Formats: sequence, C-alpha cells, structure tokens
Amino acid sequence: MEGMSSRALHALRLFLVPGAPIAAAAILLGAYAGTSEAVGFAAAVVLLAAVGAGLVLAWRFNQSRTAFALLLILCVDRFWVHAFSGGGFWTQAAAIAAVSTLPPLNFLAMSVSRERGVLTRFGLLRLGALAAEAGAIAVVLWQMPRLLYQYVAVDVVPTRFFEWTRMPQPALLVFLLAMAAFLIAYLRHRRAEDAGFFWATITLTMPVLLPAAPRVFTIYAAGAALILLSYVLESSHSMAFRDTLTGLPGRRAFENELAKLGSRYAIAIADIDYFKTFNDTYGHDVGDQVLRMVAGHLARVGGGGRAFRYGGEEFTILFPRRSPADVEAVLEELRKRIDEARFTLRRRDRPETPPPKEARGGPRRRQTPLSVTVSLGIAGRNGAKRSPQEVLKAADEALYSAKRNGRNRIASA
Ligand code: GH3
Ligand code: MG
Ligand code: MG
Repeated sequence: MEGMSSRALHALRLFLVPGAPIAAAAILLGAYAGTSEAVGFAAAVVLLAAVGAGLVLAWRFNQSRTAFALLLILCVDRFWVHAFSGGGFWTQAAAIAAVSTLPPLNFLAMSVSRERGVLTRFGLLRLGALAAEAGAIAVVLWQMPRLLYQYVAVDVVPTRFFEWTRMPQPALLVFLLAMAAFLIAYLRHRRAEDAGFFWATITLTMPVLLPAAPRVFTIYAAGAALILLSYVLESSHSMAFRDTLTGLPGRRAFENELAKLGSRYAIAIADIDYFKTFNDTYGHDVGDQVLRMVAGHLARVGGGGRAFRYGGEEFTILFPRRSPADVEAVLEELRKRIDEARFTLRRRDRPETPPPKEARGGPRRRQTPLSVTVSLGIAGRNGAKRSPQEVLKAADEALYSAKRNGRNRIASA
C-alpha cells in the first residue's frame, strides 16, 4: 500500500466501494433467498425507497443522469415482473431481449452525455425520451412480442459457447461494451457516477446473464438502485471534501484529519514561489494548469504523506506517526521533482501529458517550456503538548524562513 499514491488508492476505493459489496449482496440474496415471499416484498420496498431518496438527492446535487437511470430501473423492474407474472412465452422472451439490451445502452448514453440539470429543458427532454422508450417497449411486450424474438435468436458465434446464459448474443456484446466504456470513463474522469453505472449495470443484468427465478428480479433492481443512490452520496461527499481544480482533498478534509492525529506527526506546508508573477505573466488559466501539475506531484508524495489543497497556491502534507526528520528526504525529492518538471502551454481542456523529451526546449518550438518551484516548511509534534494548530503555525513560520532564504528550499521549524 505504501507504494501506491493516496490518489490511486482513493480512486480504487471509490470504484469498488460500495458498488461491489452491494452487487455481491444482491447476487447472493437472489441466489439463496430469492424465492422467499418476505425477501421479495422487502426488495420492492427497498427499490421504491432507494429510487425515491436517489431522485431527491440527484435533483439537489444536479445529477440528471442518475435521476434518469433510477427511473429506468423502476421501469425495467415493472416490465420484468409483469412479463413473468402474466405474460406468455413470447412476452417473456421479448422482456429478456429488452431488459438485457436497453439498460446498458441507456446507462451508456447517460455516461457519455453532459450534465445539463434535472428540471431544465434538457433534463425534462431526457425524461420525455425515457417515457417514450418505456411506452414503446410496453407496446412491443404486449402487442407484438414476436418482434423481439427475432433479435433474441440472432447467433453470430456458435450457440454452444453461450449455453450458460440466456443473454442474446448482441445483448452480451452491448453489455461488455458498456462495461468497458464505464471503466474507461471512470479511469479518465474519476466520477463516482461512472462507477455507479458499472455496478448497477452488472446487478441489473444479472438475472438475464445467469438464469434465475422470475421474482428474483426486484432484488437485483433494488440492488442497482441502492448502488446508484450510494454513488450520489459519494459524489456529494467529494463535492464537500475535494478541491475541484486539483482533485486533492481540500481544507475541510485537512481540518478533519487534524482532529484525528495522535501524539506524533509532521505537517508540511508547500507554497508556489512567485506565483502571482507567474499568473500575471501567463494568465490565470495557465496558472491553474500549474496548480494541477504541482498538485499531481504532491499527491504522489511518499513517506506515508497525504497532500491537501489548503487554499490558493498553498498545500499541506500530513505525515501521521512521522517526525520532521523522517520526512525531510521525501520532501526534498518532491521539491526537486517539481523544480525539474517542465511543461508547455496547452489548451485548458487538454489532459496533463508531458511533452515528448526531444520537443522540450527545441529551437523550433514557439513556446519555451515553463517551470515553477515551491518552498516548504515542516514542523512536527513529538510528545510535546502542542495542538495541531500550533504545529501548523510553526510549519507556516518555517515556510516563511524558506522564502526569506531564497525560495525553492525546505526549512524545518
Ligand atoms: P511567494 O514566492 O512569496 O509565495 O510569492 P507569490 O506571488 O506566490 O505569493 P502571493 O501569496 O502574493 O501570491 C499568490 C497568488 O496565487 C495570488 C493569486 O493570483 C494566485 N492564486 C491563488 N489561487 C489561485 C488559483 O486558484 N488559480 C490561479 N491561477 N492563481 C491563484
Ligand atoms: Mg501564498
Ligand atoms: Mg506563493
């Protein structure tokens, strides 16, 4: 774990929790208690409660894509239950076709579309599209179910490879594509929503993927709705505790961590040198790119440290159970890495990638590579009766002596 940066660890945690445990619980419950009447009733209650709570939160936190997905889960559950409690063979086959294909496709559309608000013209249009889709499926299921049976029977690959599932082959392809797309979107943007779509799609598709008793479906739908609800909570948590520009935890998170410290720890404050001049020379958006670059280095600091954006161009790094002497080498390496980093101006929306080595500073480049330095102050507590605020103040004073002594250096309190 020491080798992994706190950012990568956080990303892995956010992807897996709570999606994977909820999906596993729904699958186990479906497999072992799915036919119990009480469990089925409880699942219906959980489904409605999760969709209701999720819709309120999605509206408050402006997540129309999740709102759409929650309503979709509700529709899918109704279709499935009706098809299997009263529908004939064709209707059930058509339900399998629709339920195996449309949710992954719809979630995929949500994942790639931009957030445009819930009760806005665009948000309402999206809900209208969902209603139209649901209406069309209802007509197909009960008026012309044979239409979809053709689709279920499409076989591209010999069927003997697919005897374990009742998923139509095209649906399996759509499912796998959607899962890959959610994973890629998550790796690129680290949005809780994409992790939610990933686990919700698996859970919702499970009864089609692995044959199960019909009434089990509501358990999976409830699981999928709970997953989306939990990721709405996750993303509201990160709205409160993460800094949007740099992706680092922010000042509120830092203050929470201060309250948890034991009797031995070190705190470092890093401040970018002459950043005001940098902003004035290259513009505020280039300044923002620099902040991101510096934050990227800070997030990968070793020695058990965790970086926070304290405010503006100031960052703090917390080292629980370490003394300033323990972490000086790690910070010196960090200072050097930032000092040596070069980057060229780029459009604001481009991802951070270093320019190729041979292009750096080459004579034909129009832009010269830019660089910044940071100064750092460290202070620690080693049993002495000092509060975290006092240690922080001492680190700040050390930082100012690093500045006075010429910048691009570390000073210890
Ligand atoms: P010193 O070496 O003494 O630290 O000099 P400095 O110019 O870095 O110090 P100062 O505190 O005077 O300047 C901080 C500047 O940081 C002021 C502001 O323009 C800039 N800044 C603060 N927050 C942001 C931000 O979010 N984005 C950008 N682009 N600039 C910011
Ligand atoms: Mg400053
Ligand atoms: Mg500064």
